[in-house]
This record gives sequence, structure tokens and C-alpha cells, in this order.
Amino acid sequence: QLSRGKALKDVHGNITMWVGTSTNIQEIKALDEQKDYFISMASHELKTPITSIKGYTQLLSQKYKNSDDAFLNNALKVMHKQVETLTTLVVDLLDVSKIKTGRLQPRKSKFNLSNLINEVITEISHIHPNNKINYVGETNASEIIADEEGIRQVLVNFLTNAVKYSPESLDVIIDLDVNDNEISVSVTDFGIGISHANQARIFERFFRVEGKNEKTFPGFGIGLYIAAEIIRKHNGNIGVRSEMGQGSTFYFTLPLL
Ligand code: ADP
Repeated sequence: QLSRGKALKDVHGNITMWVGTSTNIQEIKALDEQKDYFISMASHELKTPITSIKGYTQLLSQKYKNSDDAFLNNALKVMHKQVETLTTLVVDLLDVSKIKTGRLQPRKSKFNLSNLINEVITEISHIHPNNKINYVGETNASEIIADEEGIRQVLVNFLTNAVKYSPESLDVIIDLDVNDNEISVSVTDFGIGISHANQARIFERFFRVEGKNEKTFPGFGIGLYIAAEIIRKHNGNIGVRSEMGQGSTFYFTLPLL
């Protein structure tokens, strides 16, 4: 049982009544399991048509790349952007199923992290051209051994959230630090921030900060859950520092082999 109580007091401050709500944890668990089942079914069904639309969008862009038809060019740009968003969403949904069944395993290879960061910045800047993403710190890092697609996903999640949850501030900073034992990457925004109580919960599956923000910013509350799982599989650390109304810094570390 999860219970929340509030004491009602008389004028002398004596407690006269307790009012409370209690939620059965069993019910919450069953609901999460239903969500997991639905996610697994839906994401598998969505994967094939989205892959096909993505393929044809690329073919069309290729075929009409020299066209001076403004309408066509704009339509292709919008389609490309939206199909990328859909693909990311479906990959995330599939990953939730994989985590639940222990099938999310890192596929490690050697790659250059600075190059990957630059690629992801280009990708996000394309989708959010008004934001300014500043890459500071080590911009010429040597190669590391890790799951490149997994690390890309974490970077995309951090940067997308940084942009999404700072509607009034366009600046984002991404910082890479390398020392003898580990590398650390942080993404800082100057947006709405997260209360200390919620900071402890945002890496949970389906958790979203409640209230006005929940309706203003669309999402499923799974991006950080997946990011945490990916970093955990690399024996790294993931976390957040934040102050309400001032902004947030999300970071992860990876041990160097
Ligand atoms: P989603 O953004 O789809 O809800 P995430 O798992 O990526 O899912 O994030 C979980 C929750 O953490 C978000 O719903 C939001 O409330 C909070 N959050 C994440 N990143 C930020 C950020 N940069 N600033 C403020 N709140 C954030």
C-alpha cells in the first residue's frame, strides 16, 4: 500500500481528523505490465511500415534533390523530420521491451566520441534550428570502446530533453571530459529545472514530472530509463544536477578500459 495522509487540526492545533489516499502498489504494477505488453505489440507492428516510409522518403529526396519546386522541397523536409521522430520513438519503445526481457545488450566497437557528439549535434540542430548547442571541453577525444548506437541514443535523449524542457532559453552546453580512468559527458540547459524530489525518480520507467509540464511537453517517460540502462550496462554512472527554474545538467561517465 502506498499511503498519503494529511492531518486536519482545530484552532488549538490539535489533530481532529486524518484524511488520506492509498493506492494499491499491486494495481500500479499490473498497470505497468499492461503498458509493457501494449508497447511491445505496438512497437513491433509500427516498425515495418515506418521503415518503409523512411526508405521511400529517402528515395524521393534523392530523386528530387536538384528540384527547384519549393513546395516539394518543403514537403520532403517535413516528411524527413517527422519520420526521424517516429523512428526514434519506435526504437525507444522496442528498447523498453528488450530491457524487460534482458535482451538489451551492448554491442561494443571502437569509435571516436567527439565525432559522434558532432554528428548528434548536427542532427538535433537540423530538427531545432533555433537552439544553439555549444560543444565545449575535449573536442578532439581519442577513440573509445563502447556501444556506439547506445551512446548515440543517450546523447540524443539528453539533448532532445535539454531543448524540449527549456522553451524560453535556446542555449545548451555539451561538455566532454577525459581523464586517465574515465570519460564524462554532460548536457546543461537553462530551462524549467527539476525539483530534488523528482530528480530521484526521473530515471524510472514511465515516470514524468506531474502537473502543468506533463501536458505542455509530450512524452512517454522512457528516454531516461533507457539511457540509465545503457550506461549501467557499460558500468558507468548517470545522473542529474538541477535547480527549479534555473536549468539542469544531465551527465554520464564511462570507465576507460
Ligand atoms: P519524456 O521526456 O518522454 O517524458 P524522459 O524519460 O526523457 O521522458 O524524461 C522523464 C521526465 O524527466 C520528463 O517527463 C521530464 O519531466 C523530466 N526531464 C527530463 N529532462 C529534463 C530537463 N532537461 N529539464 C527538465 N525536466 C526534464
